[in-house]
Amino acid sequence: MPDQPLESEVPAIELPAIGSAKEPERFHLLDWTTEELASWLGARSIPKFRAAQIQRWIYQRRAKQFEQMTDLPKDLRTELDEHFDLFRTTTAAHQHAADGTEKLLLQLVDGGRIECVLLRDGPRRSICVSSQVGCAMGCVFCASGLDGVERNLTRGEILEQMLKLQHLLEADERLSHIVMMGMGEPLANLPRVLAALSVAKDSEFGLGISPRRITISTVGLPPAIDKLAAADAPYHLAISLHAPNDTLRNRLVPVNQTIGIQAILDAADRYFAKTKRRLTFEYVLLGGLNDSIQCARELVQLLRHRTAMLNVIPYNPVPGLPYQTPTPSAVLQFRRTLLDGGVNAMFRQRKGDEIQAACGQLRRLREREPQVVSIQSTKTS
Ligand code: SAH
Repeated sequence: MPDQPLESEVPAIELPAIGSAKEPERFHLLDWTTEELASWLGARSIPKFRAAQIQRWIYQRRAKQFEQMTDLPKDLRTELDEHFDLFRTTTAAHQHAADGTEKLLLQLVDGGRIECVLLRDGPRRSICVSSQVGCAMGCVFCASGLDGVERNLTRGEILEQMLKLQHLLEADERLSHIVMMGMGEPLANLPRVLAALSVAKDSEFGLGISPRRITISTVGLPPAIDKLAAADAPYHLAISLHAPNDTLRNRLVPVNQTIGIQAILDAADRYFAKTKRRLTFEYVLLGGLNDSIQCARELVQLLRHRTAMLNVIPYNPVPGLPYQTPTPSAVLQFRRTLLDGGVNAMFRQRKGDEIQAACGQLRRLREREPQVVSIQSTKTS
């Protein structure tokens, strides 16, 4: 048996013990690496190659239960069932949008709720995954952080979102992209995010998604960006900038008060130097706040000489918040100023609006006004 993987991997989280004095402790299989599983099997005189077989069933063959792993001996399937939960979340809501976007609201064992989204765009099957319950960064326009952060997600809870979204695909569809842009700040939960992503990128036992198709989106935490640069894969880094100067950014992204844009850009430059991966900066356009020509000009100064792309996203209204989506003419002049200044800018359309696909929104609606949203409830898998 491995050395207490739940405790050693997730020291920051106190999850309620599952099991009692009478019942043996149960483990979340998605928290365990192939090596940990192999050593647990080895201690029971079960051949270690079974560990790889089990992982492939989970991540590649989309098994939802041990019972479906038909090339494992029946006794082993029973034994696994006695000691492990494969999935620990229940699906509290499942929404479909007309454009093919699907969103899951998942309930965790301790009652916390997280959201994750599947986006269909041409041949792409992208998933947007949460890293924390809530968020501590406090961006004033974002639904996820309105009630602060509750806790970090475990490796298994991050992987479970990916798998539950994979289960929504048809047999001939494959996940192609992952964005860590759901609830929470991924770089504030870096060890578990990296542990989950190493399974996502693993083509031998895992999901086999290239690191260049995996994006980690961050508010910009320089020490963690440096740690990410030293990690084992050149993931795509997206930095949520939202303002071209510290005065405005301190207002919109309060955590900026102790960091500052320059320190973030320096860390981003170091990330680029290490990985050679083009940087992305995200900019949520808030009508009358950060959509002026002056803001666009300042952005040109910041980004013109960097190998970077600016992803401009119109604000997705959050009920109860006072912000506005920008007017079409403001968007047009903002865009023209950026392009004239030589910034590589992409203006994104919103997807999945009618199902509150901006993460954090569905959770709040469900907590406060459960009757408002038409939800197609689904069974736990
Ligand atoms: N904490 C990370 C990742 C989660 S937020 C980060 O800050 O990047 C993912 C992206 O969604 C961020 O760029 C965030 O600013 C944006 N976002 C949050 N609320 C939004 C809203 N109401 N409308 C449009 N984009 C929003």
